[in-house]
Amino acid sequence: MTMEYHVIANSLFDDSEFAYGEHREASYKTGEAKKCQSCGAFLSMLEWLPPFEVNVSKKELGDFIYGSYVGFIVSKNFKDKFEQTGLKGLTNFRKVDLYHKRKLLSEEYYYPEISLISAFVDLKYIEFDEKDLCDTCQKGKSIISKIDGIVFETPDKINEDIFFTTSIGQSTIVLSDNFRDYLEKEGFTNLKLLDAAKFKWDSLNPIEY
Ligand SMILES: [Zn+2]
Repeated sequence: MTMEYHVIANSLFDDSEFAYGEHREASYKTGEAKKCQSCGAFLSMLEWLPPFEVNVSKKELGDFIYGSYVGFIVSKNFKDKFEQTGLKGLTNFRKVDLYHKRKLLSEEYYYPEISLISAFVDLKYIEFDEKDLCDTCQKGKSIISKIDGIVFETPDKINEDIFFTTSIGQSTIVLSDNFRDYLEKEGFTNLKLLDAAKFKWDSLNPIEY
């Protein structure tokens, strides 16, 4: 059986249906970025530290809210159900206060941590502006210019059901078939999924799905 992967293709700041979120304070607190132990390259954005406060663009809230932060914020409905599954890759759900037009909303939302793993991708589908790879993180000092599909070199070594890869970074959230099936079965809102092998990204021409 070949394992298929999927990516979340929602635009971060599209609120035609559901709200997007932005840090309430422009100067929100940050911690460290993760670094590769071998090559020293930065593998993540700076960690967002409490308080977790977000302004939402409208009152229609999906189970997933994307925006100015890495990853997403999720509803209590999603968190409670997810925690009953054996799915791997989301941890550390931290409560977020949501504001709309300066008013604190009563809805409970959480900011989970998404695993960052070094699942190597097939470089046949990647074009670089600068290519300087690393054996540990695959990324090294490389700068990607184009992605023409995300295909993993050794998918059977991947244990997580949702993750970022060090090679591509935190703008692309990857999901396993199991996670996709679960999400579809539960019908969570504000999720647009795409076959990872068909995912395209171009640094010069933003692609909307
Ligand atoms: Zn490295």
